[in-house]
Amino acid sequence: MSNISSSRLEDRVLQTLTKVFGFNSFKTSLQGSATMTVVKGEKDVFVCMPTGAGKSLCYQLPAVLAKGITIVISPLISLIQDQVDHLLSLKVRVSSFNSKMSVQERKAILADLTSDHPMIKLLYITPEMAASASFQPSLERLISQNLISYLVVDEAHCVSQWGHDFRPDYLRLGSLRCRMPNISCIALTATATKQVQEDIIALLKLKQPVATFRTPCFRPNLYYDVQYKDLLADPYENLKDFCLKSLGQQNELGGYPGCGIIYCRMRDACEQVSIELSYRGVKAKAYHAGLKLVERTSIQNEWMEEKFPVIVATISFGMGVDKPNVRFVAHWNISKSMAGYYQESGRAGRDGKPSNCRLYYSHTDREQICFLIKKEITTLQGKRGSLKESDKAVMKNFEVMVAFSENLVCRHAAIANYFGDDVPQCNRSCDYCKNPAAVKKQVEALQHSTKSWSRTYIGPSASSWNACDPELYGGGKRGCGGFERYDEDTRSVGEVNEDSQKKEWNSFYNKQMKLRRGREPENDNFVLPDSDCPLKDAASRKIARITVKAREHCLRMLEEALVTNRQAAPVTDSQLPPVFLHSGNNLELPTVAMWILQ
Ligand code: ADP
Ligand code: MG
Ligand code: ZN
Repeated sequence: MSNISSSRLEDRVLQTLTKVFGFNSFKTSLQGSATMTVVKGEKDVFVCMPTGAGKSLCYQLPAVLAKGITIVISPLISLIQDQVDHLLSLKVRVSSFNSKMSVQERKAILADLTSDHPMIKLLYITPEMAASASFQPSLERLISQNLISYLVVDEAHCVSQWGHDFRPDYLRLGSLRCRMPNISCIALTATATKQVQEDIIALLKLKQPVATFRTPCFRPNLYYDVQYKDLLADPYENLKDFCLKSLGQQNELGGYPGCGIIYCRMRDACEQVSIELSYRGVKAKAYHAGLKLVERTSIQNEWMEEKFPVIVATISFGMGVDKPNVRFVAHWNISKSMAGYYQESGRAGRDGKPSNCRLYYSHTDREQICFLIKKEITTLQGKRGSLKESDKAVMKNFEVMVAFSENLVCRHAAIANYFGDDVPQCNRSCDYCKNPAAVKKQVEALQHSTKSWSRTYIGPSASSWNACDPELYGGGKRGCGGFERYDEDTRSVGEVNEDSQKKEWNSFYNKQMKLRRGREPENDNFVLPDSDCPLKDAASRKIARITVKAREHCLRMLEEALVTNRQAAPVTDSQLPPVFLHSGNNLELPTVAMWILQ
């Protein structure tokens, strides 16, 4: 294309941008260059930009300028309806064609499509409709008359089994694309891994070389660091300091210029962390699917309106939240995947100002999640008889997160590497690049402490000493519900079902008791704990045949043993938590637990 016609084309594009879409300029230069490439129509185009970046414009504007019809494949009728309504409000001649329409509506559309000069510029359909027999005659006619200008595949990650919402019908689009070899195909997604990208390009049979437009994953204004929870004397104090440092200078009214998000894996932890922070003077509220919808909405609104600065939430929080001044995102527990971690931590610093992303890492968390994943895999295997690659990928994804936390490399480089981007210029925007020796020392201390730590941690929700052995639970007979990937209810996606974990713990406990006594535990009269009882939860966690007093006594003995043990341990780092047991004493948890219980 000559320079003159190319600049004329640019003028037409900019005119359409203002006149039809009402925008003064492109949102980003990437949106501009992707749109221009589509307009030129010489190549197939792959667009990967985060949600909200304005991907639709990259094909809608070219569709308006083109002579023929643009066919857009989109996964859901509701998504299609939103797009159609929006374009109709802009007076663009757009239509969808779906099973929910009346016979008359459908007839009218088919009549237009099979006329010599169709009026419709964009036609939105689902992949099922694209494959349906009833639609083939019209499609065939459009193809043979050269009336199609573009084939657009929105939410293109759906073709890939590595994408989070795989749809088998998307796989047929590759052969559809081959039926129209002379037009350009545009694939768009927000899912950024190289694996998904390669799948999309191969399965949609995009023509090489594909023009690719990807938002780089590197966010230079985000400072990433990892704190090793097991090595902190007081993790809550550390979290509080991090919040205060990140939130900025408090004004006279007690408000802060910024706000923050803390992600926890479980609801209990959300409650606990918000209490600990509020107690330490940082106003925080919990948000999770265990709350009523009205409560959740009001907490989210209050946080948006900056009535309190810190929201402590499960990962159900944040979809569609686009608050520019989030100054920090902390993860109180390790994420299940890098994709999730990147997305959640990426909610910090949308305004481009310096912001902090901190991950609190511990081997206990690692083992719990590892255990849950293994169990989920075992359950799936039991159900299906075999495993899909994507089932196994869950564990691989988690291993990437573990490596991110434990490897001695730049955190930004680790993220970029995962997404297949070039290594970015971190410029001391992570703990490793700032002070590699300090991180190395921490990781070494962690590994040193873990030799006995991982086997002796006392936790009510996980039997850590056997954390990765599903056999203990009868081959994983029940799913824990933490990894449903096709959950329709987005409020609870990724949340761990604590009830089932508690039940599992109880059944494990009962089984152990039965083994020891040779009979079922009996109910007995339960005496409520005193108000100053250190076993806060004793009333809610009754243990048959053991009084609270006996448990209090055992707790004291246990505390004493721990203190003695800690003093005897040859570990120089005094920051180890008090529950760290020196393995030399042979104080393994099962023994300790049986003291308390028997
Ligand atoms: P995506 O598909 O990438 O999630 P959308 O195409 O739905 O994003 O666009 C997100 C928002 O950005 C929409 O509200 C849209 O109107 C707006 N937008 C798109 N392009 C521009 C632009 N050039 N200038 C301003 N706003 C834009
Ligand atoms: Mg979109
Ligand atoms: Zn770095």
